[in-house]
Amino acid sequence: MTGEREQGRAREVLRTVFGFAAFRGQQEAVITRVAAGGDAFVLMPTGAGKSLCYQLPALLRPGVGVVVSPLIALMRDQVNALRQLGVRAAVLNSSLSAAEAQEVERQVRAGVLDLVYIAPERLLTERTLALLDGSPLALFAIDEAHCVSQWGHDFRAEYLQLAQLAARYPGVPRVACTATADVVTRREIVVKLALTEAELYVTGFDRPNIRYHVVHKQNTRQQLRTFLRSEHPTDAGIVYCLTRRKTEEVAEQLREDGFTALPYHAGLDADTRQRNQDRFQREEGVIVVATIAFGMGIDKPDVRFVAHLDIPKSIESYYQETGRAGRDGQPADAWMLYGLSDVALMRKILAGSEADAVHKRVEQQKLNALLGYCETASCRRQVLLAYFGEERPEPCGNCDTCLEPVETWDGTLAARKALFVVRGTGQLYGVAHLADILTGADTPRIHEKGHHLLSAYGKGKELSGKEWASVFRQLVAMGHLAVDVEGHGSLLLTPTGLAVLGQQETVRLRKDPLPHKERKRKRLPAASAAMPDGPDAAALWEALRTLRRALADEAAVPAYVIFPDATLREMLTHRPQTLEALGRLSGIGERKLARYGEAFLELLHGFAGDDAPVRRVVGFAEE
Ligand code: ADP
Ligand code: ZN
Repeated sequence: MTGEREQGRAREVLRTVFGFAAFRGQQEAVITRVAAGGDAFVLMPTGAGKSLCYQLPALLRPGVGVVVSPLIALMRDQVNALRQLGVRAAVLNSSLSAAEAQEVERQVRAGVLDLVYIAPERLLTERTLALLDGSPLALFAIDEAHCVSQWGHDFRAEYLQLAQLAARYPGVPRVACTATADVVTRREIVVKLALTEAELYVTGFDRPNIRYHVVHKQNTRQQLRTFLRSEHPTDAGIVYCLTRRKTEEVAEQLREDGFTALPYHAGLDADTRQRNQDRFQREEGVIVVATIAFGMGIDKPDVRFVAHLDIPKSIESYYQETGRAGRDGQPADAWMLYGLSDVALMRKILAGSEADAVHKRVEQQKLNALLGYCETASCRRQVLLAYFGEERPEPCGNCDTCLEPVETWDGTLAARKALFVVRGTGQLYGVAHLADILTGADTPRIHEKGHHLLSAYGKGKELSGKEWASVFRQLVAMGHLAVDVEGHGSLLLTPTGLAVLGQQETVRLRKDPLPHKERKRKRLPAASAAMPDGPDAAALWEALRTLRRALADEAAVPAYVIFPDATLREMLTHRPQTLEALGRLSGIGERKLARYGEAFLELLHGFAGDDAPVRRVVGFAEE
């Protein structure tokens, strides 16, 4: 049966070329379909392993796999990484000289490449299309497919032209990939890329290796320093700030505190920006302190933390920005400082923007949802995923509220009152007015609408307007209320909200943090706790990183291209003493074993540890 044979071949390539023991999630389903000539639309979060979904079938099918990717720097890194695995890959973009480009074109035509990465504008030239017409093609992969969406911030006009690939190359399977969560963009991609025949593969948006923390802001500099020194003393990470000036100040402070920190914002000249980004991408342990201008084009898999010193403007932004941490699947932290002053500032920025009134209101509501997230007493991951319409029955055990539960109160009655007033006013009003009704405020609007006549009027005097606002925000965050994005910022009841109203569910609310009293904080177990301890573990870890660095410099590639952190960590844990044992670790395929095995083994021999003799015996026994 071809199906089974394809599957067997796919697993073989996964093991020997990529060095992985098993497929993740839906990778195998996608790969089998594409290898058999079908189209696929792959919607998976960052770090899920989308690249393999087109790289591997390109190796299984005859001809070259054409990858359309929007960013030249990323193409180069991907191609470097593939070559390290022994895959025949090349780029075709404006960074090549005419002669170099001609050589790549010759190889495409001759069918001696497995993969070629092409920028969209180049792909659509007559010259390239003519080249593809006369070449054996394995597949088309359209990476970052959301770039086709005119409403998104990554819009690329050339992506709209990619639909013509369907008509021009009907027999060539196409794979589109994106990490974009929302349903509207998803539909737009299917239509604009003519993917109606494509099988859809969606995995949840959870990023289980990211640990979420939200910390009450007291002394930014000191809190950041403490966090970094205790959790990430030598790691690469991103620190987000709201203003350009602050990025420079914080970078300066971090340098004074002994970290390698560089600023990044749109006000720096292009050269400096590029240089700082390159250093972040290629060196180890560099911290970039940035405005949100730093984002698109960051494809560093070993970012160990993303810190927000100011709140982002929405949960979408937060998810996207924190999502740059831990792409390699290893433990990473998303750490945010949250203070009421930020909220005021963010509101002011949103209110002062160019957007029209409707748009502004939507932005305000999105900010409110983010605040609900900050204030939640339940698992942060549950709140985050609920916002994207994903239900998660159990708390995650890997966020601050799971690890260190906050004080809560029984808010069931308050929640019912809040939901009741939403329903009683026809789901037409926003938080401020609803809170006014509950507290029995005497405003012109109350009288104009006749809301002083409602039975709910003045029935919530036990809480202040601010506290009611917090109740409403928490209800939005819990998914019991939704924000009407159609235009008015009104709150709408959801099915779970109705359940609360119908007394089927109790609601616990978070107590407002005490701003003045110093709250005692237990230290959470470090996200990087997977690191085995032992007398020489730290020394071996540093030695492994140094060796990787040296090999990377020699090959002029970023360190993670040699081996990802996950592989080094396995070396640290298992301390293999034979080539064969080394080759069994995740991320070590045949080519890399041949190329780097001896060097790492030599190092590992020096760190055999106390129980090494036992391991050696096992190693010999298996040989
Ligand atoms: P995405 O494009 O979805 O953000 P990548 O394709 O960059 O994710 O993969 C993220 C990381 O996971 C990479 O380091 C990759 O090598 C690794 N990876 C992918 N598939 C597997 C697998 N089946 N087993 C182990 N690691 C994998
Ligand atoms: Zn949790």
